[in-house]
Amino acid sequence: MAWDFETEPDFQEKLDWIRSFVETEVEPLDLAFAGEHCLYDKTHPVHDAALRPLQEKVKAQDLWACHLGEDLGGKGYGQVKLALMNEILGRSAWAPSAFGCQAPDSGNAEILAHYGTDAQKERYLEPLLEGRISSCYSMTEPQGGADPRVFTCRATRDGDAWVIEGEKWFSSNLRFASFAIVMAVTNPDVPIYQGASMFLVPTDTPGIEILRHTGIGWEAPGDGGHPHVRYAGVRVPAENLLGGEGQAFVIAQTRLGGGRLHHAMRTVGAVRRCLDMMCERAVSRTTATGPLSKLQGVQEAIADTWVQLLQFRLQVLHASWTVDKVGGHAARAEIAGVKVATPRVYQDAVLRTMHLHGALGVSNELPLPGMLLAAVVMGIADGPTEVHKSTIARQVMKGVEPAEGLWPSEHLPERTAAARERFAHLLDHEVGNS
Ligand SMILES: Cc1cc2nc3c(=O)[nH]c(=O)nc-3n(C[C@H](O)[C@H](O)[C@H](O)COP(=O)(O)OP(=O)(O)OC[C@H]3O[C@@H](n4cnc5c(N)ncnc54)[C@H](O)[C@@H]3O)c2cc1C
Repeated sequence: MAWDFETEPDFQEKLDWIRSFVETEVEPLDLAFAGEHCLYDKTHPVHDAALRPLQEKVKAQDLWACHLGEDLGGKGYGQVKLALMNEILGRSAWAPSAFGCQAPDSGNAEILAHYGTDAQKERYLEPLLEGRISSCYSMTEPQGGADPRVFTCRATRDGDAWVIEGEKWFSSNLRFASFAIVMAVTNPDVPIYQGASMFLVPTDTPGIEILRHTGIGWEAPGDGGHPHVRYAGVRVPAENLLGGEGQAFVIAQTRLGGGRLHHAMRTVGAVRRCLDMMCERAVSRTTATGPLSKLQGVQEAIADTWVQLLQFRLQVLHASWTVDKVGGHAARAEIAGVKVATPRVYQDAVLRTMHLHGALGVSNELPLPGMLLAAVVMGIADGPTEVHKSTIARQVMKGVEPAEGLWPSEHLPERTAAARERFAHLLDHEVGNS
C-alpha cells in the first residue's frame, strides 16, 4: 500500500529547522528592508552583512539550492521535498535568497545547468549558484507575452557574433542582474517555436537601454523592478548562444515548468499565513456578543479557507510527486493545474483575511494589500490562466473518441435498454411474481 501522507522523521527535522530559521532569522529582513531594492542588488551592503551569514548556515544544513538535481550540482531532493520546504519559504520574500532558490535565478540556473557549455557554466552558473550575482530572464515583449508568435526581437549572425535588436518588457531584475538570458528570433522563416534562440547577454554589453523602470502596484513610479528594455544592436560572441539555434522554446519549457510549480509551493505557505491570521483575529476581536470566532459567517470563512488550503496543498504535492515520477514534460497537465489553482486559492484567502480584519485588513499596516496583488500576479506571470486551462483541456481530451452515434455514451435510454435486456430473465420473473 503506497499512499502515504507522512514525512520522514529525518526530513521533518530539517523542516522544523527551516521553519524556526525563517521565522527568527530571515523574516526580519523582510521587515527591515521592505520596499527597498536590496533583495536583488547583490552589491548592497545588506547582502554581505546580513544575508551571507544566513546563507552559510543554510549551506551548513545542506539545504542550499535544493531545486537542482544532484547531476546539476544540487541536492537531488526532488519536487516533493522541495514542496514541503517551499511552503515554509513562501512566508518570506528573502527566504528563497537565503536558501539559494530565488526566482528568476533558480530557473536561469536550471537551464544553464541543462544547456550551458562548460565555459558558460563556469562564467555564469557558478557565481549564480554561489549567490554572488543575480540574473534576468528576458522573453516577454511589450506587444504581447502570452502568445510568443507576436515576438519581433531579432538576433542576426554577424561573423563570429550575434547582434540582438528589439524590445522586451517586464524583464524582472534586469537592473541588478549581471547577465540576462534573452530570447530572440533567429530564423523568421519558420514558426517561432522552431525559429527562436536564447542568448547569454552580460548586462554591461553596449546597446542595452532601459526605457522605463516599470514596476508593479506597490513600487514607486519610475523605480520598479520590471523594466521595458531596448536591445539596440547588442553584440554578443557566438559562444553566448545557450543550447542550440532554434531551441529557445525547449529551453523555456525546462525553466517555466519548475518555476510555476515553485510559485505554487510558496503560495501554499502564503495561504497558510492567511489562515493563521484569520484564526488569530477571530479569537482576538470581540463584538458585544463575544469573539468573532463564535459568529457563523466567520466560521464559514475560516472553514472555506481551510478546505481550499488542504485541497490546494494536496494538489501541489501530487503535481510535485508526478514530476518526480515522470518528469516535467509528462506532468504538464498537473503543473498547469496548480498554475490555474494558485491565483484563485491565494486571492480567495487574502480577500477573506482582509475582510475579517476590517479597515485594518485593507490598511498599510498589514501585508495583505501586497499579498492581494501578488495573488493577481500569479494568474499572469509565467503565462495567463486561460492559456494553462487550454493546456489542461488538451491533455484531458487526449485520446478521447467521439460518441459512436447521435447520442452520448451516457445517454440513459440506450444504456437502460441494454441493461434491461441483460437482466430480462430477472425482470420477467419479478413481473411474473407481482
Ligand atoms: C510580476 C511579473 C514578473 C514578470 N517577470 C517576467 C520576466 O522576468 N521575464 C519575462 O520575460 N516576462 C516576465 N513577466 C511577463 C509575463 O510572463 C507576461 O505578463 C505574461 O506572459 C502575459 O503576457 P502579457 O502581459 O503581454 O499579457 P497578454 O499576452 O497581453 O495577455 C493579456 C490577457 O489576455 C488574455 N489572453 C491572452 N492570451 C490568451 C489566450 N491564448 N487564451 C485566452 N486568453 C488569453 C488573458 O486574459 C491575459 O491575461 C512578468 C510578469 C509579471 C506580472
